[in-house]
Amino acid sequence: MPKGIKSEVRTYQMYIDGKWVDSASNQTSAIIEPATEEVMAQVQAGSAEDVSRAVAAAKAAFETGPWASTTPQERGRVLFRLSEKIRQNASKLAELEARNCGKPIVEAEFDINDVATCFEYYGGMATKILGTVNPVPDNAVSLTLKEPVGVVGMITPWNYPLLMATWKMAPALAAGCTCILKPPGVTPLTALEMAKWLPEVGVPPGVLNIVTGSGSICGTALVQHPDVNKIAFTGSNAVGKVIVKQAADTVKRVTMELGGKSPNIFFADADFEAAIDGALFGVFINQGEVCSAGSRILVQRSIYKKFVEAMTEKAKRIKLGSPLERDTKMGPVVSKDQYDTVRSYQEIGKKEAKMSIGGGRAKKFAKGYFIEPTIFYDVDNRARIAQEEIFGPVAAVIPFEDEKDAVKIANDTPYGLAGAVWTRDLFKAFRTIKAMRAGIIWVNHMQLTYVEAPWGGYKQSGFGRELGPWGIDEYLENKQVHINLNEQPIGWY
Ligand code: NAD
Repeated sequence: MPKGIKSEVRTYQMYIDGKWVDSASNQTSAIIEPATEEVMAQVQAGSAEDVSRAVAAAKAAFETGPWASTTPQERGRVLFRLSEKIRQNASKLAELEARNCGKPIVEAEFDINDVATCFEYYGGMATKILGTVNPVPDNAVSLTLKEPVGVVGMITPWNYPLLMATWKMAPALAAGCTCILKPPGVTPLTALEMAKWLPEVGVPPGVLNIVTGSGSICGTALVQHPDVNKIAFTGSNAVGKVIVKQAADTVKRVTMELGGKSPNIFFADADFEAAIDGALFGVFINQGEVCSAGSRILVQRSIYKKFVEAMTEKAKRIKLGSPLERDTKMGPVVSKDQYDTVRSYQEIGKKEAKMSIGGGRAKKFAKGYFIEPTIFYDVDNRARIAQEEIFGPVAAVIPFEDEKDAVKIANDTPYGLAGAVWTRDLFKAFRTIKAMRAGIIWVNHMQLTYVEAPWGGYKQSGFGRELGPWGIDEYLENKQVHINLNEQPIGWY
């Protein structure tokens, strides 16, 4: 290796119509490793022309290519084989995901395992897509057929790159759709790695295309393209709103998995030790870069002081470190942009509330986007740090008096993605679950996610659901078929 070059920097091509290709722009963009701030790869800077090529390939594969004539059984087996490939290569994929995102390797391993499980789950579901026979009041057979929506554009975020893409690709492929994935600009590498197994597992050319590039160029081109039938989006509210408006021009189906500011509610009767752990895990897992992060920690007044002290003590022991060290609990945030955003909220928080720990850059690291886990307390729910999604390791602890007060504060947000309740009282738990306006509620836990259960938000956290049977429904149309069994003419004229 030439002097001065520390490691080989690989240049990835894009995957369109079963081929590895350069962008029509002839440009690449650097992928930065957040722990070292060094270039770890180059990817194609895709253009609208690349998106058009990918859409044309997906359309042809849907309408006339072999995917159109595959049986559900064959599609299921393709997904099983892909799942198997991912399991066989799990440690390499996890390492790449950890390096690219900055997330701890142990968490990345969970993510990759979930990716494989998700392909497996929808591989099984390919053969369980059932239509209905409708009980119409006539001498006729009325059927509802389930059919794939067609060409799907998938636009995904950087916090769980391969997993968020899989939550879309797996049900879409099982349903018989063809896809164009536009992975996040800063973390596209695991999706590109996965693509190299597509021919081997039996995904025909054009069925799954990957176009890398910016959201404003490639994302917009995908959303505006008239031959794309649906956009499945996970990302921020700001971009979600733009996409919903742009999709209106071609009346595209859209599903929106957006941000959150989720309340994690601790009643005085909760198991105290478990609660402290749950509060920290809820907000600091994946460096706080989690859509369902329990970033508003609501604590009943009678245990409030003790709770903040215990949380702060335990937070001091959170080990920040290299994403690849097995005992690391927090790595760097994903990018310089995200680092700057989170740092600015730390400064806003200092003006809005009291701070028990953190508040700055993690100083022991000379390089990398490392941020101290930060806890603000005595936060007013109207404060910006309680209303705006920070997407980093910043917690806002808010006191409440009683159940009614807790629910009022919990719901006082434009978001409605998730929430959690900690109590030993089942009746109180159920009352709170019913009163909370959010799509996912945990009791005495936070963040567990299963492929079998629905995922998605209320209010401005989006619409549509991923995972489980709900997830595949988003990729299916309902076709009504009426079969007249009367042999006489209708007799109208
Ligand atoms: P983002 O909205 O900035 O970007 C998401 C994707 O949209 C990226 O691929 C980006 O390139 C693309 N994009 C950007 N501008 C676009 C445009 N004008 N048109 C089309 N596409 C465009 O989000 P992010 O910063 O990557 O991810 C963090 C956000 O994702 C947070 O708000 C988080 O809450 C949310 N998120 C939600 C869920 C969920 O399940 N609800 C899961 C993970 C992340």
